[in-house]
Amino acid sequence: MRILVSGGGFVGAYAALRLERRLRGSGHEVVLVNPENYLQYQPFLPEAASGNIEPRHVVVPLREVLRRTRLVVGEVEAIDHGARRARIRTLADEPLDLQYDALVLAPGSVSRVLPVPGLADRAIGFKTIAEAIHLRNVVLSRLEAAADTTDPEHRRALLTFVFVGGGYAGVEALAELEDLVRAALRRYPELHDVHPRWVLVEAAASLLPELDAGLARYAQALLARRGVDVRLETRLDSAEGGVMRLSDGDVFAAETLVWTTGVRPHPLTAQTGFPVDDQGRIATDEYLRVLDEAGEAIPGAWAAGDCAAVPDPVTGRPCPPTAQHALRQARCLADNLVATIEGRPLRRFRYRNRGQLVSLGRYRGVAQLPGRIRIRGFWAWWLHRTYHLAMMPTLNRRVRIALDWTVTLLFPRDITALGSLQRPREAFERAAEPPPGTLPESRRRAPVTRDPGTARLARP
Ligand SMILES: Cc1cc2nc3c(=O)[nH]c(=O)nc-3n(C[C@H](O)[C@H](O)[C@H](O)COP(=O)(O)OP(=O)(O)OC[C@H]3O[C@@H](n4cnc5c(N)ncnc54)[C@H](O)[C@@H]3O)c2cc1C
Repeated sequence: MRILVSGGGFVGAYAALRLERRLRGSGHEVVLVNPENYLQYQPFLPEAASGNIEPRHVVVPLREVLRRTRLVVGEVEAIDHGARRARIRTLADEPLDLQYDALVLAPGSVSRVLPVPGLADRAIGFKTIAEAIHLRNVVLSRLEAAADTTDPEHRRALLTFVFVGGGYAGVEALAELEDLVRAALRRYPELHDVHPRWVLVEAAASLLPELDAGLARYAQALLARRGVDVRLETRLDSAEGGVMRLSDGDVFAAETLVWTTGVRPHPLTAQTGFPVDDQGRIATDEYLRVLDEAGEAIPGAWAAGDCAAVPDPVTGRPCPPTAQHALRQARCLADNLVATIEGRPLRRFRYRNRGQLVSLGRYRGVAQLPGRIRIRGFWAWWLHRTYHLAMMPTLNRRVRIALDWTVTLLFPRDITALGSLQRPREAFERAAEPPPGTLPESRRRAPVTRDPGTARLARP
């Protein structure tokens, strides 16, 4: 029997790990398809962006963790469950048709993007390690450009950072990057009298809607004390031309726009032909089996995590899209899949939310724990770090992260902007150009100029 796992995030990786352990020696094959050969530990993305943790340390090589699973690096493009066949686009850019007997759907979610003019051209999301690294480089290159420009308006735009979405991803990312910029500015004598502007735009009446109102107010007050301009009950109406137009009437220029307004299920869910709910999530029962239109379990189809509407045993509503749920669902799903193969009874998914931990940058955080326990300040921050360090897969990664934190305590922050990582061939291409004067005028390339705002190259 072949089990195809689509997605190598929390659900995919943990389900495959459990399956390979429980099916050891049985002759069944587990195949996991993921676009990268690593799992990314998203709760540490804000710290990877701020440089507290080396970005490579927040991802875990799947081949190191999954010793008996066949890993295919690529994307599942289409699923024909009736024929038990999946079409995969591999890294070799060749289509691969794979027959399977059981399917585990776990492609997660993507940023929920709204039709705001200028958004698609200007904004960056905050869901992947590539986005975290890019954002760090962009923010640091803005400081370099601001130090060089003589135009005060351009400088103001370069040093205005707008985050849209005040959930935990937006708040944590903003808090970490604000810390980074504050520390970095000490190395910029040219900018000693300027203050970067941080604007957090949230459509709801409070930040961190997942948390108790008192903790959310504490987080908002802390950000405001650091100079963050928090705009509640406000929307971004347009970002065209780098001009931010807010629903409260404010209009200002900003070169950096980060969009963190939540997630929607991965588009693959719509291509499976399985029924989805009003939010596009695949409907499952409490055993993690995919349901058909009549509410009956579809044989051989399983789903969990951000892409699925798994009923929460406590509230009856779908579980929230969090790693803590995804991880437990993955284990329950794998156990039930094995039980189905072995003809044993299935067990219900039961999990009581362990609470919420939010880091607000160095030494500050908020925590909401079971039993109505509320913690704010240093101990909440410490708990956030300790919990996620303990949850980080593999001892190897845990040790590396602990060492990264120790190094950041002992030495100043690293403020190198490695923007050139996004253009690795540029130096070689320039070197390959013939020296001026050796080509006729008609074949000479226009000179390259640097756009300081984006640190990209532009040809006039
Ligand atoms: C910045 C940030 C911070 C967070 N912090 C927390 C936190 O503190 N606590 C918490 O509980 N949760 C947190 N979360 C949420 C948590 O990370 C997600 O709920 C969790 O990752 C969901 O697991 P998943 O397996 O469903 O999806 P993912 O972990 O996203 O995995 C999906 C995988 O499927 C792959 N994939 C996509 N398309 C395809 C395809 N076509 N074929 C094959 N594979 C595909 C993706 O590349 C990815 O590897 C955070 C999320 C973010 C973005």
